[in-house]
Amino acid sequence: MHDWTEETDALAEQVIAYARARTRLDPIPLNAPRTSEELDSICGQTITADGIGGPRALELFADVLEPASLSVDYTKYLSFVPAAPTEAAVLFDLVVGACSIYGGSWLEGSGAIWAENQALDWVRSIAGMPEGTGGVFVPGGTIGNLAAMVAARHSAQTTRPDPGSPWAFLVSAEAHSSVKAAAQVMGADVIAVETDEQRRLAGPAVERALAEHGDRVCGVVATSGTTNLGVVDDLATLGPVCRAADIWLHVDGAYGGAALATERTRPLFAGLEHADSFIVDPHKWLFAPFDCCALLYRDPDAARAIHAQHAGYLAFLDAYGDWNPSDFAIHLTRRVRGLPFWFSLATHGTDAYAEAVDITLDLAAYAADAISRLDYVELAHEPSLSVVAFRRIGWTAEEYQAWTEATLEAGLAFVTPSRLDRAPIFRFCFVNPRTTTAEIDEILSALA
Ligand SMILES: *Cc1c(COP(=O)(O)O)cnc(C)c1O
Repeated sequence: MHDWTEETDALAEQVIAYARARTRLDPIPLNAPRTSEELDSICGQTITADGIGGPRALELFADVLEPASLSVDYTKYLSFVPAAPTEAAVLFDLVVGACSIYGGSWLEGSGAIWAENQALDWVRSIAGMPEGTGGVFVPGGTIGNLAAMVAARHSAQTTRPDPGSPWAFLVSAEAHSSVKAAAQVMGADVIAVETDEQRRLAGPAVERALAEHGDRVCGVVATSGTTNLGVVDDLATLGPVCRAADIWLHVDGAYGGAALATERTRPLFAGLEHADSFIVDPHKWLFAPFDCCALLYRDPDAARAIHAQHAGYLAFLDAYGDWNPSDFAIHLTRRVRGLPFWFSLATHGTDAYAEAVDITLDLAAYAADAISRLDYVELAHEPSLSVVAFRRIGWTAEEYQAWTEATLEAGLAFVTPSRLDRAPIFRFCFVNPRTTTAEIDEILSALA
């Protein structure tokens, strides 16, 4: 099976034609989930001793399996955080797969890693972090948060007296679920800090929490763009408080960090230059395919000190350059997953990114305005990024749920309910510049 035959050649044509057709599909269908039993009965056993052949496997994927998988880039997919990879990024993902590059060490992946580092450095520059900041692309915000929090704790462990109880992170109640999950993996605690009237974590509240718990706090985790509402914590007051207390400041911008790309929203992030670590997921709002999270450390050595793996068979790598991406998170083998993002950035230039993010901000502003004009919906929070949270006046949680199921089944939209202050809300999250205002109107009409 490791040779290129006429059959392989024909399969290549088919696979590339399929990828090409899917990438240019317009409109993109939402698709719909099926049960495992349904898929069993339609597809049967696909793993057999003799193989079913590439053309048959591709046919099953095209006819059954892809239609049973939602298209996250569907223009009326406004749930969670969707995605809208550029054509250039998607096409280059095929190339990355074809090239068998090991992205863990400079020796093995220097060219690809150099390109990834240029893309990371653009993120650093829009974040306002100092030169010398560096890091690595990891699979997602969850791993990015975990890796940064591990580095934060290690930094405290090496410079501060042992607190005699688990180290803790100060976080706001609006922090992403992955922050708590990371703390759990680490055996660390999270201490919830109250937010201000705009639901932001801010310096004064953190200062009070430090006065109470300071000797066991190893880091503050701020969010620059909460998933539920798009709230950017008050980094301008958090930064100085963390610096004064010599406490690691990690900023989770998995969703919202992309808004640094445009001048319009960049001022919301003032203070980010104080961060010791920062993440943003290009696979969310920076138009890269899954899976891709940019993880940056102000002092990469602080991350290397805990994350670098040591073994006899790895020592050889240390002789070649000092930038081994494996050293900056919990991983060894890694796909050069930053390359599709790099290729698209290099292709289109950063102005195009600013414009695309601006379009999604315009969509959010349009939706917020439309909602405030209608009498059966109301804004639940004034949007600052591209999340628009609103209530359907008079509906119970069951009615929210039923509407979502019905619209998904009808292939009309994918808008799931969320909760705010224990009450149901809907939220639109705009990351797809192909979404139109007519589609927003259509969804709002369906809620009448
Ligand atoms: C999505 C998200 C995460 C988790 O990122 P994954 O890439 O899904 O692992 C973390 N933090 C925030 C704020 C997010 O929106």
